[in-house]
Amino acid sequence: MTQDWNTRTKLVHGGTRRSQYNEVSEGIFLTQGFVYESAEQAEARFVESGPDEFIYARYGNPTVAMFEDRIAALEGAEAAFATASGMAAVSAALTSCLRAGDHVVAARALFGSCLYVLEEILTRFGVEVTFVDGTDLDQWRAALRPDTTAVFFETIANPTLDVIDLPVVATLAHEVGARVIVDNVFVTPVHSRAIEQGADVVVYSATKHIDGQGRALGGVILGTSEFIRKTVEPYMKHTGGAMSPFTAWIMLKGLETISLRVRAQTASALALVDKLQGHPKLVRAIYPGHPGHPQHDLVMRDMGAGGTVVALDLSGGQKAAFRFLNALEIVLISNNLGDAKSIATHPATTTHQRLPDDQKAALGITPGLVRLSVGIEDPDDLLTDVMQALDAV
Ligand SMILES: *Cc1c(COP(=O)(O)O)cnc(C)c1O
Repeated sequence: MTQDWNTRTKLVHGGTRRSQYNEVSEGIFLTQGFVYESAEQAEARFVESGPDEFIYARYGNPTVAMFEDRIAALEGAEAAFATASGMAAVSAALTSCLRAGDHVVAARALFGSCLYVLEEILTRFGVEVTFVDGTDLDQWRAALRPDTTAVFFETIANPTLDVIDLPVVATLAHEVGARVIVDNVFVTPVHSRAIEQGADVVVYSATKHIDGQGRALGGVILGTSEFIRKTVEPYMKHTGGAMSPFTAWIMLKGLETISLRVRAQTASALALVDKLQGHPKLVRAIYPGHPGHPQHDLVMRDMGAGGTVVALDLSGGQKAAFRFLNALEIVLISNNLGDAKSIATHPATTTHQRLPDDQKAALGITPGLVRLSVGIEDPDDLLTDVMQALDAV
């Protein structure tokens, strides 16, 4: 059965449902609704629907269910709910289980929209949020309270790639009875062991490595059957952030190759950063998977790899960063990550532009910082491109 398969087998075959035609490639069930054989069957399904009994695509759909089962098998989670985007997943994972008066502790180094949900939206509905430096365990200890209902963090944070000690933070959170919700995009589903390490809920933007080819927005929430079926599903059903069947099909095909892609990207990222150590145009070449990184031991212990993103801090500030970006020939200037194509971003003027300067400084988002998502191109070509662009600075 699926549970006994190794990862790469799960990624190709997990969750497959075949129609009466026995198609090899997964079917796209582009249907919003499902026909009942009788009025009695319709009534029964609205009372309680079984695993493969569908009602309406906002609640579930066979292609979406294939994607949910396949990613749940990969993550080692009991269940999953697919969403229209990564942000639909993040906001639903939080909002579905929080109420006015609850207290949340979150790491401050977050994807900009996650920060917005915590800081601007949840607080508007009476949820109290305390932000901490996620790498400082004493700050977690000080912030957690008996009434803390949830903690939220990115295990590897965007864009400075600080690594949070998930097993320890989860233990601290569970001591006060808080639910541990992690956004694990930068770890990637291939290297995640978040559930075994204490996460109760794992969230992904499927737009990143799961699609991995820059085609569609999507997201997924993973957790226990109890949490997904009793807390997330009713919330998603009635608020409407479901994934479309066509997107689910793209994401299913993405999962087939995700392990091959992410492993190649990870190897290229490490090789690139290794060659960039001590480069005269750089203050630092940051990659937690490199032995020179201060959190290398932690990332290897918990994830076994440093991910597919590196950060380069150019010594000449924003001017140098812009020269570098404009000189790149293979690497594209854009803001996705985890894509087959290598992509470079200047966080201070784009993804993190909204933050005041003191917060940027506190998070290590310097004017010279460039985030580089390493793709699946030939690693020697990538190195040549990065080197020639650094020469141009
Ligand atoms: C991209 C991203 C999101 C949001 O995902 P979308 O699919 O763009 O909505 C959330 N968290 C992290 C860490 C991300 O990288």
